[in-house]
Amino acid sequence: MHKGPRDWRVPPNLAVDALEHDAFSWDVARAWLDGLPGGRGLNIAHEAVDRHADGASGTRTAIRWLGKHGERENLTYEDLRRRTNRMAHVLEDLGIRRGDAVFTLTGRVPELYATAFGTLKAGAVLSPLFSAFGPEPVRQRLEIGRGRVLVTGRAAYERKIAGIRDRLPHLEHVLLTDVPAGAPPPAGTLSLASLMADADDTYVIGPTDPQEPALLHFTSGTTGTPKGAVHVHEAVVMHHATGRFALDLHPGDIFWCTADPGWVTGTSYGIITPLTHGITSIVDEAEFDADRWYRILSGERVSVWYTAPTAVRRLMRLGEEPARDADLSALRFVASVGEPLNPEAVVWGSDALGLPVHDNWWQTETGGIMIANTIAADVKPGSMGRPLPGVEAAVLSHGPDGVVTHDGEVEVLPAGHEGELALRPGWPSMFRGYLHDDERYRRCFAGGWYLTGDLVTRDADGYYWFLGRSDDVIKSSGHLIGPFEVESTLLEHPAVAEAGVIGKPDPLAGEIVKAFVVVKPRVRADDALSRELIGFGRSRLGAAVAPRELGFVDDLPHTRSGKIMRRLLRARELGLAVGDLSTLEGEETT
Ligand code: ATP
Ligand code: MG
Repeated sequence: MHKGPRDWRVPPNLAVDALEHDAFSWDVARAWLDGLPGGRGLNIAHEAVDRHADGASGTRTAIRWLGKHGERENLTYEDLRRRTNRMAHVLEDLGIRRGDAVFTLTGRVPELYATAFGTLKAGAVLSPLFSAFGPEPVRQRLEIGRGRVLVTGRAAYERKIAGIRDRLPHLEHVLLTDVPAGAPPPAGTLSLASLMADADDTYVIGPTDPQEPALLHFTSGTTGTPKGAVHVHEAVVMHHATGRFALDLHPGDIFWCTADPGWVTGTSYGIITPLTHGITSIVDEAEFDADRWYRILSGERVSVWYTAPTAVRRLMRLGEEPARDADLSALRFVASVGEPLNPEAVVWGSDALGLPVHDNWWQTETGGIMIANTIAADVKPGSMGRPLPGVEAAVLSHGPDGVVTHDGEVEVLPAGHEGELALRPGWPSMFRGYLHDDERYRRCFAGGWYLTGDLVTRDADGYYWFLGRSDDVIKSSGHLIGPFEVESTLLEHPAVAEAGVIGKPDPLAGEIVKAFVVVKPRVRADDALSRELIGFGRSRLGAAVAPRELGFVDDLPHTRSGKIMRRLLRARELGLAVGDLSTLEGEETT
């Protein structure tokens, strides 16, 4: 496939040659963006909104919003420019200055998108929260981020914020998105709509240093208390480049990222990336519903779809028929992130959607996709793919206390060995710290590498394979067992819809593998099936790795970003304290 050095001055269309790393540099990617006029720096909102707002591209739909109850709203690039200009004025008029934090606590409503780019235009820092967070998780995060402004809805304000307002000394302004015209907002709040109506719709983005903070994102809290990762405007270089490399975005695409902006995927790829490409981004206000999702994919003629393993598994439970019945003729590329994508799910994609699901890997801290199965190379089902251009990854020797260091040096392992995934710092969307937690930030580095906390192997072709988070990996009779491998095997059994696997202390083995299984609709979860699944696991994985115990559950605990919360399964099993559950999916959390 190699065709000699690629001429990177010509934006490659697209990923076919994209993995010819050698000729690529971040300067090349930076040149795909405009920068602020007059050499005044780099601002995410300019790249995503303003640069497409003039001329013919201004009338193109930037965001197509689909409301819960069937409403539709098309926001063109021009509309979005005007709205975000107004928002920038609103914030400045309230006294918000560069570096101040603006939080959102809303569903996926159009105001969220106007707030996001208005905040970035004004040089303030955006921190979007999941709308289902209860008062305590909101308070914690507002406090860590010293939020001065909160944009939210009336109901959320009354239920969650009013009662804790006196414990939020930094919070000066609460802007409500849904105050009816003419009605007075509740005491202590302002109506966002009336402020916007009074604001000027022209605005010149001030000089923006690419290293200025832009986003504050809290991690998913899968392994413990969420950390607030700080990202800068330069991250947009990565967003745009990975839009090409990992998501294969082309002009004219209709892109749908199903993630909520309360999770980093919903911001990097649900707000910023598609707009930096000047394409149409679908925003669906509703929660997962298989029928609705198939209707959106076909009705909106989605061409590139970015979703999560948990969603794919939920669609799989319903079989291939609903997918076959939907008109997916516009769909060209499907990708998934957030958790390991079981090989079974990749294959299901090929059968049911007509396209394999491309797994890719990244974290809140990395700000953008780092390792991916791309359109340019074969998908290896069960692998998270290969590092993207500009990304240097390695597997480091890992012991019981983490990465092994000798005099500050680390050991890079050859292909075929298990160890911790590490990345060489230097990509533009790298986080610049955990807010107010320098110590935790420092612990993320060793020997010149950023340590991801995930255990992986790399094969001879350079593909990375996820074993588990270092906190989730099970140590049984001298073996290191990744829960993912066991879960994926169980998923191959026709009765199994989802599985979560933990290590359970055992006096002889150290730990044994215990599996929690959700069965498919109309399957009887009884002792016979339990024995059958244990036997199935043993025949595929061998006795050392297969689950020794197996229990049926109606559902697995997930984070709001869709990850199985194994630490909660484990705590429940062992009767331990459950720890921070602020990001647990389900009812409102406290
Ligand atoms: P916390 O750091 O608070 O425990 P978290 O790590 O779940 O939460 P995120 O930043 O949302 O927070 O998730 C990143 C993690 O998700 C990765 O480190 C990895 O463990 C997992 N992950 C993401 N994508 C993949 C993937 N494609 N395959 C396997 N694991 C993935
Ligand atoms: Mg993490």
